[in-house]
Amino acid sequence: MIYYRSTRDTASEYRRITSAEAIKKGLADDGGLYVPERYPRISDKAFASLLKMNYTDRAAYILSMFLEDYDKKSIAAAAREAYSENNFDYAGSGGPAPVVSLSDTVSLIELWHGPTSAFKDMALQIMPRLLSLALGMTGEKRTAHILVATSGDTGKAALEGYRDVNGIRITVFYPVDGVSRMQKLQMQTTEGSNVNVIAVRGNFDDTQNGVKAIFSSRELAEKAENNGFFFGSANSINWGRLAPQIVYYISAYCDLVNSGKITRGDKVNICVPTGNFGNIFAAYIAKLMGLPVNRFIVASNSNNVLTDFISTGIYDRTREFRKTISPSMDILISSNLERLLFTLGGSSLTRELMESLKLEGKYRVPDLLLKELREDFSGYYMTEAETMECIKDTFCKYGYLSDTHTAVGIGCAEKYIQETGDRTPMLLASTASPFKFAPAVSESLGLEKTEDDLLCMKRLSEFTGMKIPVPLCSVFGKEIRFKNTIKAEEMPEIPFRNI
Ligand SMILES: *Cc1c(COP(=O)(O)O)cnc(C)c1O
Repeated sequence: MIYYRSTRDTASEYRRITSAEAIKKGLADDGGLYVPERYPRISDKAFASLLKMNYTDRAAYILSMFLEDYDKKSIAAAAREAYSENNFDYAGSGGPAPVVSLSDTVSLIELWHGPTSAFKDMALQIMPRLLSLALGMTGEKRTAHILVATSGDTGKAALEGYRDVNGIRITVFYPVDGVSRMQKLQMQTTEGSNVNVIAVRGNFDDTQNGVKAIFSSRELAEKAENNGFFFGSANSINWGRLAPQIVYYISAYCDLVNSGKITRGDKVNICVPTGNFGNIFAAYIAKLMGLPVNRFIVASNSNNVLTDFISTGIYDRTREFRKTISPSMDILISSNLERLLFTLGGSSLTRELMESLKLEGKYRVPDLLLKELREDFSGYYMTEAETMECIKDTFCKYGYLSDTHTAVGIGCAEKYIQETGDRTPMLLASTASPFKFAPAVSESLGLEKTEDDLLCMKRLSEFTGMKIPVPLCSVFGKEIRFKNTIKAEEMPEIPFRNI
């Protein structure tokens, strides 16, 4: 059985918990993140079976490897419900995460055919089901109160996943000026009787720190306990978010083999537009499980803290926070990098580095660790102008319309290929529908500007011949239910209001 442990637990007899407990708890009491004690390997035989499966069955198979305390049948049922055609637009491709060829070298994994038109749905449609199962398995009587800090996309995806789920409440905090109008509208119009949405004055890091502070406060945990609930997380600090994200990298590799683009055993490169380092870390786990990956390209926007880190070994968040057209990547503290540091350097080092990040806003990793990290990871970034140029060029050259985040990925992949000449087939995570970020995408294409987002999407649709995803149209005309704005200091009170 695979147990989970905290990245900051330095005891030789460290605390081990089951996956159900890890998904329930989210963050460890010591502030660390849960990681599996070991990574299961995909055997040749298992790989041969995966090749023949559809996405849902691949998801059930891979999740069962990590969630060994769960009943396999329950996981399979959860995957069937989560990835059904009710939730995802299969768009004639036969699955929720189609692989689309961009150029001779680059293939895109489109991860945005779910209910909120961004990749967070891939995990957040199944995670509530895994949490519900965990509550049952652990005999939990208390209500789980999920707290989410969002840079825009996680919030809505979590609201859609958790709304009206029994035994669970959810509060989403977003930085008041740090999300797009569309993202804000999506969240403010959410339906459901167990949901709350609050705007916070500050940027995403302030909001994420606020949530982390609630999680690590013993006093608030006790107060919650006295009120019959406990705090849970839906951010990618939660293992339940990461595990489902491993699936699509393995699945996409299988699809490439099945389509004859690569031969089984061939290496691929993987490029991921990155913010919190969750999505790319999931890809790295796929490699630890045996997926043949040559190199990971960490694609950043002008909040290029990770690019600098990979080139210097110094992680320094003490810099200006930039608001960009790819807001879901406007992050200076990439939480999941901690899981990589732990994997390469162990818990004592991780603890030390995280302490330094908290106190000084920066840390430097030992040279040996940096060398090892660079054997797997390359970092590139795109300025705002380059990103807009890339959206236009990609559309003109390949007829592919990408959103602002995906364009950061495409541009960084191109920089990498140009700089290295490495023509290894590249899988690139396409993380959002271009219509979700229609104003910036339209501007990149030179279309007429408008403050009317619906009109903007319609024009974009007419110009490109692409269909607007239904969930994005349907938010207009819905009632705005949530209008509260608070200061970051007020965040700890929110879960205790109206209970
Ligand atoms: C969240 C998000 C990202 C960044 O993913 P991380 O797991 O935080 O690295 C990239 N693109 C889009 C559209 C997102 O919503």
